Amino acid sequence: MSKEENLECSFCGRKKAETDLLIAGVDAHICDKCIEQAHGIVEEEVSETKTGDLSKDLLLRKPVAIKTFLDQYIIGQDETKRSMAVAVYNHYKRLLQTTDDEDEVEIEKSNIVLVGETGTGKTLVARTIAKMLNVPFSIVDATVLTQAGYVGEDVESILSRLLQAADYDLEKAQRGIVFIDEIDKIARKGDNPSITRDVSGEGVQQALLKLLEGTVVNVAPKGGRKHPEQKFIEVDTKDILFIAGGAFSGIERIISKRLNRQAVGFSASLDDDKIDEENLLQYIIPSDLKAFGLIPEIIGRLPVLSYMNPLDTVTLRAILTAPKNSIIKQYTKLFTMDDIDFTIEEDALNYIVENAVAYKLGARGLRSLCEAIFTDAMFELPSAEEKVLKVTKEYAESKLTNTTLKKLRAAS
Ligand code: ADP
Repeated sequence: MSKEENLECSFCGRKKAETDLLIAGVDAHICDKCIEQAHGIVEEEVSETKTGDLSKDLLLRKPVAIKTFLDQYIIGQDETKRSMAVAVYNHYKRLLQTTDDEDEVEIEKSNIVLVGETGTGKTLVARTIAKMLNVPFSIVDATVLTQAGYVGEDVESILSRLLQAADYDLEKAQRGIVFIDEIDKIARKGDNPSITRDVSGEGVQQALLKLLEGTVVNVAPKGGRKHPEQKFIEVDTKDILFIAGGAFSGIERIISKRLNRQAVGFSASLDDDKIDEENLLQYIIPSDLKAFGLIPEIIGRLPVLSYMNPLDTVTLRAILTAPKNSIIKQYTKLFTMDDIDFTIEEDALNYIVENAVAYKLGARGLRSLCEAIFTDAMFELPSAEEKVLKVTKEYAESKLTNTTLKKLRAAS
C-alpha cells in the first residue's frame, strides 16, 4: 500500500479512500464527516452559551443592594426606592424562574405606578433601575397616545422605541423597562362613567391594558407605516416591566376627602394618627387613582403604587452635590478637563437652591441655573491665561440677572 493510501482520519479512523476529503493538520488528519459533526457541536455550544448569557447580562441584585445602588443617584424618596426594589426584584426573579417548575404557581407581573409632582425623580428612578439591571429602557408620553386617535398604531410605537433601545435584539427588548410618563393625562374626567363624555382617555387606557398584562404585538421595527414592505417583529410584552408615572395634580383633594371620611368613621383613632397635611400623597391608595379617573382594570395591572415626596430646600441642596453624577460633579469634571481650578462656595450653592425654590424651578431648574452662572466662564476660561474659577455668592448673583431668571421661569 502506498503511503498516501495509509492515511486515515485521526478522529474516526476512516481510511482516506473511504472519505470524500481528508484534511491534513500538523500531526493529524480530519475527514469531511468529522468536520461536519464538529461544526454541529460548535453551533450547539454557541447557541447554548447565548441563552445562558441572557440571564448573565441581566444584573439582578437583592432588594437591599438595589436600594443601595439607587441611593447613589437619587436623594431621598426612600419609600419609593424600597417598594421599587422589591417590585423589580420580584419581576426579574419571575423572569429567571425555569418554566418546568412543577408547583404551577405563576408569579404575576409587578408593574408600578408612581405618583408625584413633575421633577421629583420619577423618570430618574426608572432609568437608574434599568441602568443597574443592564436592560433596555424607553420612555413614552401617554398624552401622545391620545392625540393620534389611532390607538393600535401608537401602542406599537411604545414597543418599537424599546426595540430601538435594545439595538433590535428582540430577547433583550422583551425584558426591558418602559416608562409611561403622564399616565394621569389619560384619566377619565369625572368619576361617574355614565355622565362622562370624554371617552378618548378611557380608550387609550383600554388599549394599554393588554400591553401591561402581556400580549404579542406586531411591531414595525422602525415605527410608523411608511414602509409597507418592512417585516413586522412579534414582541411579547409579558416580561416587559412597565412603570407609569404622573403628577395627578389635585389628587390630594381626593385623598384628603377620603381621610376625612375615614376620620369621621373612626374618630377614636384620629388623635393617634395625626395626618400630615403637607404631604398627603403618602396616604395614597389605589381607590384614589380610580376616583381620579383611571379605570379599575388599569389600576389592577399596575399593582405596585408608590409616591414621590415634594423636593424641599434640603433635598434640592443635596441633589446639587451628593449624587454620584451630581450636577456640580459634572461641571467640576468639565472644568478639570480644561485644567481649570474650579471651586464653588457653600453660599453660592445655597443661593442657587434659593432661586430654584423661589422661582419654583424644581430639580430641573438647578441645572438651568448652573448653566446660566457658569456659561461665561466655560466660554472664556479654556483659552485664558489664568485658569481659576472661584464661584462665590456674589459671582453667582452677578451672572443671574433678572432677565435670565424670567427666562428660566418661563421655560420651566
Ligand atoms: P419626573 O420624572 O418626576 O418629572 P425627573 O426624574 O425627570 O422627574 O427629574 C428631573 C431631574 O431632576 C433629574 O434628571 C435629576 O437631575 C433631578 N432630580 C429630581 N429628583 C431627584 C432626586 N430625588 N435625586 C437626585 N436628582 C433628582
